[in-house]
Amino acid sequence: MNGAPVLVHERPRRTALVGAAMFDGVTGAVHPSPLIILDGSRIVAVETGTTPPDDCEVHDLDGATLLPGLVDTHVHLAFDASDAPVARLAERDDDAVVASMIEAARTALRAGITTVRDLGDRDHLSLQLRGRPDLPTILSAGPPITTLGGHCHYLGGAVPDGVKSVTAAVRDHAERGVDVIKIMASGGVLTPGTHQELARFTAEETKAIVAEAHRRGLPVTAHAHATAGVANAVAAGVDGLEHVTFWTADGIETPIELMQQIVDRGIVVGATAGLDPVKLAISGPPPELATRVPAIMANLRRMMEMGAIVVAGTDAGIGPPKPHDVLRHAFPMMQAAGLSPYDALRTITSVAATACGLGAAKGRLAVGYDADILAVDGDPLTDPAALLRVQAVYARGARVR
Ligand SMILES: [Zn+2]
Repeated sequence: MNGAPVLVHERPRRTALVGAAMFDGVTGAVHPSPLIILDGSRIVAVETGTTPPDDCEVHDLDGATLLPGLVDTHVHLAFDASDAPVARLAERDDDAVVASMIEAARTALRAGITTVRDLGDRDHLSLQLRGRPDLPTILSAGPPITTLGGHCHYLGGAVPDGVKSVTAAVRDHAERGVDVIKIMASGGVLTPGTHQELARFTAEETKAIVAEAHRRGLPVTAHAHATAGVANAVAAGVDGLEHVTFWTADGIETPIELMQQIVDRGIVVGATAGLDPVKLAISGPPPELATRVPAIMANLRRMMEMGAIVVAGTDAGIGPPKPHDVLRHAFPMMQAAGLSPYDALRTITSVAATACGLGAAKGRLAVGYDADILAVDGDPLTDPAALLRVQAVYARGARVR
């Protein structure tokens, strides 16, 4: 014998997905007879009308439309989509919360939602779920930065007034390794008494939060219902806004100039779209929200007509009509708000990925992109319900079982 034995590393076989049609996440056309070749976690070829090469294991997804894995820009894995998510969370210890977060993330993944941005966990519990092969790609905000007693203060992100303390909170989040800073720039429905119609944080505090986050390379998105809260966030230079309802004590406003600033600055509008129709019939939205929905939808349509970048951030987890796979139901709702079927699909694929800072890796079926792929039975562009008929899901190249 001379030298070491020869080790033969057999290269893992490549996988070829064959379907009936494909929406690539960007192009306004459905491509017939797609062939997508995966090598490990990446897409290495996207073709149409060709036969798979011999070195590929072929997955024939008969009759399926292939789409990029969906991207939900606003979820709460720690809320369990029960009728009392806040109380249920409060009674659970960290181990139990993590177990329920894993279940929530798997619910999303099985539905083809291969990336989720968690905009509010408890005490940074979502950080430990990132990078797991059995879960979607997870981006974490940690507990939202909020005022003392403010919206979602019980998640662990409440800070005393003042520029110094809000800056310290951003620094602490950054040092723990969050992907994005989420702030509560107004009150919210889930926290009674916090006043949706009022801004939270002063203009100076909001500016300090955004400046510190940007200095550390982190984007900021602001939960904002009250017009004054939206205005503070816009003036501070946030990257995204959540809800954006322009909520007042007795209705909804339409502040055209502020809307124009949102458009001009390219701030992403996270529309709280998506409701499970069956569960909605059992447990509808709170009455103060229900009466405002037509005006909120009209504002959304208006901002889209003005050219706003809009994504569907579902707020999955906050109640029975918001299960963790509810993003599929945002698709028809975005069309109802005025988008074409292609644009509505873009809002939950390529546009959402870009809004999350993942535009070069997610949300498209193209060479070099992550192999996050959803195969559904039928054509969702002509039949929105097809998005619910999942035939297969691939997350970073691995088929989800
Ligand atoms: Zn939320």
